[in-house]
Amino acid sequence: MEDHNTVGTEKNNASGALQWGQFRDKELEKAFYNAEIARNINYVSFTILIAAMVYFSFIIPEYFLITAADAFRAVFISRSVVLAAMLFLYFKVRRDTRYESLIYWFTGLEIMIAMSFIYISNQIPNPNILIQAFGVMIIILAIFLINNRWLFSIFTALFVSIGYFVFVSVSFTAIDRSDFLAAIIHIVIVIVLSSISSYSVNYYKRIQYLHTIELIKMAETDALTGIDNKAKFNQEYARLANSIADTDRNLAVIMFDIDDFKAINDRFGHLIGDQVLQELTGIVRRNLNQSDLFARWGGEEFVIILPDSQREAAMVVAWRLQQIIAEHRFETAGQVTCSFGVAAFKNGDNLDTVLHRVDERLYLAKKLGKNRVE
Ligand code: GH3
Ligand code: MG
Ligand code: MG
Repeated sequence: MEDHNTVGTEKNNASGALQWGQFRDKELEKAFYNAEIARNINYVSFTILIAAMVYFSFIIPEYFLITAADAFRAVFISRSVVLAAMLFLYFKVRRDTRYESLIYWFTGLEIMIAMSFIYISNQIPNPNILIQAFGVMIIILAIFLINNRWLFSIFTALFVSIGYFVFVSVSFTAIDRSDFLAAIIHIVIVIVLSSISSYSVNYYKRIQYLHTIELIKMAETDALTGIDNKAKFNQEYARLANSIADTDRNLAVIMFDIDDFKAINDRFGHLIGDQVLQELTGIVRRNLNQSDLFARWGGEEFVIILPDSQREAAMVVAWRLQQIIAEHRFETAGQVTCSFGVAAFKNGDNLDTVLHRVDERLYLAKKLGKNRVE
């Protein structure tokens, strides 16, 4: 119920949920980033590989441009180090499943490439500053293409540009001033345009993510009571049951149904009936553990899954709930009681046999006089 509300507010002021192209909420940002990389993992790793190859392949023209053997060897080492780092990152990305730390790896790698590029630029005799500016622009475009934090991308783009121009103005005194100025202006424009487009892409991806999690939440939540619905129950039940299959772990199921609910509706009206359902789910939820799954099975029938619980423990929980509900005075309806069926997984059970048993016991509880546990 709480989760549901949080997502609701985030949707209502989605733009307020973001700051500097990221979610303010660190956990949400982490979840988004992980989902984003996981969804694009093939693209991300392939891009790293291609970028590594492209960056290294510039060694071919440099072989012809840099005639001094020492300088060429230094350039070759510089490109090789970057290639090795990128290949390492490629394998890391393919192996890991938690991606939060990638931001720092990407940023580190971008700074490394920037330094390598600046270093190499200074090894080339009689450089053409406009051609080198193209190189800076390509690096900037690549930086903004990488799934990094928006501010980090701007930082590394500025780092490579400023670094490059500082080195050029220090190392080459014979540079054409108008070329130098033109290069600076064009690179500034590329950074500004890339930042804007990267910001809007990041913004809409996150808004989209908020909408998606809200839709998933809605698809899994019962609208009246805010607890899980039957679809979510089926999914979690199958997941939990499969996770204990072939182990000696336990799983118990409680099913309960409001007694004579039709009479409550008839006497007080449907709205009060709805109120009873809401009040009742609130009471039950408060008396369960966080790890217990509580879902509306349909109508006035509910189901609880108790992970790692045996039948006896589940019986105790059901008795307690039965008592708490029976002793509670509902706002208008007064006393409301429920009947409970309990069953636990045994050897040879499957999803259906346990549900069948719990359903039978609930039916028995009704038959034996209601307001009881079987
Ligand atoms: P029993 O003790 O045998 O369970 O009797 P019962 O009257 O509780 O059971 P029955 O199945 O005859 O009636 C269930 C009633 O629950 C009928 C239906 O109108 C009502 N109901 C189902 N869903 C809702 C709901 O969302 N809101 C309201 N107000 N009533 C609902
Ligand atoms: Mg009923
Ligand atoms: Mg019923």
